[in-house]
Amino acid sequence: MENQFRQYPLEEDILGALDALGYTQPTEIQAAVIPSILNGRDIIAKSKTGSGKTAAFAIPICNFADWEQNTAQALVLEPTRELAFQVKDELYAIGRFKRLKVPVLYGGFPMEKQILTLKQKTHIVVGTPGRVLDHCKRGTLDLSKVRYVVIDEADLMLDMGFIEDVKNILMHLEGKPVFMLFSATMGERLEALAAQFMHEPLEVKIENDTETADTIEQVGYFVDEDEKKLPLFLDILTMENPDNAMVFCGTREMVEVLYYRLRKEGIACGMLHGMIDQKVRTRTIEDFRAQGFRILIATDVAARGVDFQNITHVFNYDLPTNKEVYVHRIGRTGRAGETGRAVSLIREDEQKMLNSIESFTGVGLAILKPPAAEDVENARSAFLKRQRQKRPRKKKKQDVFGGQIMNLTIGGGKKSKLRSGDVVGAISSIDGVDGKTDIGAIDIRESITYVEILNGKGALVLEELPKRTMKGKYRKGSQTRERIGTIIKVRHSN
Ligand code: ADP
Ligand code: MG
Repeated sequence: MENQFRQYPLEEDILGALDALGYTQPTEIQAAVIPSILNGRDIIAKSKTGSGKTAAFAIPICNFADWEQNTAQALVLEPTRELAFQVKDELYAIGRFKRLKVPVLYGGFPMEKQILTLKQKTHIVVGTPGRVLDHCKRGTLDLSKVRYVVIDEADLMLDMGFIEDVKNILMHLEGKPVFMLFSATMGERLEALAAQFMHEPLEVKIENDTETADTIEQVGYFVDEDEKKLPLFLDILTMENPDNAMVFCGTREMVEVLYYRLRKEGIACGMLHGMIDQKVRTRTIEDFRAQGFRILIATDVAARGVDFQNITHVFNYDLPTNKEVYVHRIGRTGRAGETGRAVSLIREDEQKMLNSIESFTGVGLAILKPPAAEDVENARSAFLKRQRQKRPRKKKKQDVFGGQIMNLTIGGGKKSKLRSGDVVGAISSIDGVDGKTDIGAIDIRESITYVEILNGKGALVLEELPKRTMKGKYRKGSQTRERIGTIIKVRHSN
């Protein structure tokens, strides 16, 4: 079947990347906003985590970006470092065949290194507000050519106290860029921000907020005494023995209690909350995505916007205090036609909240009896076995491009006076390789050179390259796993 994204006026390079990513049908939010963004209209969009908001703005932005320009043409603001990286990966993947450069700016990383990166060609900048503003003030980030601005997770940005920084950044823009604001909730302060900077924005609300997919089985357990909650949870977890689970807690403290309790039993798990260092959070997220462990314990805020696939279970260790949050949480599972289970623990004084959730979603939770001690005992060894077992690491989603793009290193660099012209010359002299379209970024270091070979020509280049000389010497090439997007400094036609 033809890729449904072909209904939009998009470049072949973009459509090819969407094919490679397996995006064949726009999600609801994408269908609602892509045509407007392509037409240059400002938008305010509200929809839940996992609805595909990133590609909704990334597709038009990557389509618009002009490779020839040297300074940023789009700016994407994210509340946290891990979301900045996640969004960068998506922009980078969608812009892959256009070879778009997407630097990430965030606090806690050496300013000097970011300044060096910004001196190179930059197409789309993704960053957290504080650091982006820092660069603006120092004059190291040129926003004068920015035509698209995205404020992602705007409500979280506001809660985290970033709104003044955001406003300040917007003041550095010239002309009238297209503004896009994405948020899970809308309030007066966001509307005021929109009114100040946006021009007749299209307001899009994906009204499935109350809907819980019928692929999700919702069950609940009553717990009458607080002390019984943790042991009850452990029993339920043992019985469920989940493949991939998210456990939501109301407080950081509870996240830690559960985490250390499970770790004590040798169970592989991870935790996310706001007081954990950003670097550690990023590693936890990557590890969970790679299937390094099966149980992730988190607060709502720390998990917001973070994309995980194949979640089989959502546990509400603590029931949320807001019915919409319940819907957002359990929407992590039962996606893409898969079935999922949502398991909630309900204290007696939370009966009202339960009623409110049930009438909001129109679905009643099946209330179950606590598992019998004997059953838990019988299930225990299978549980420990699965939860302690290592799985093969899963590849990153963006690795779908692996077959078409190969990163090579070539022996020799600046020391041997190698220049990009030499590399391009040698590679394009190979029969079947087109120097214009098959060679991507090149990065020449002191004594090593990185080069990207596109369109599945990598193997051919590996075989033929050693038969040719560069600067009078035969040089060996080899494949590298290093991600060129993060190392590249120059390109041959620069
Ligand atoms: P949100 O920002 O709304 O929380 P994301 O942009 O993180 O959602 O997307 C959630 C997941 O959906 C990601 O894994 C993304 O790769 C996937 N996705 C996005 N658009 C499509 C599409 N059109 N077809 C298939 N998968 C998609
Ligand atoms: Mg998002």
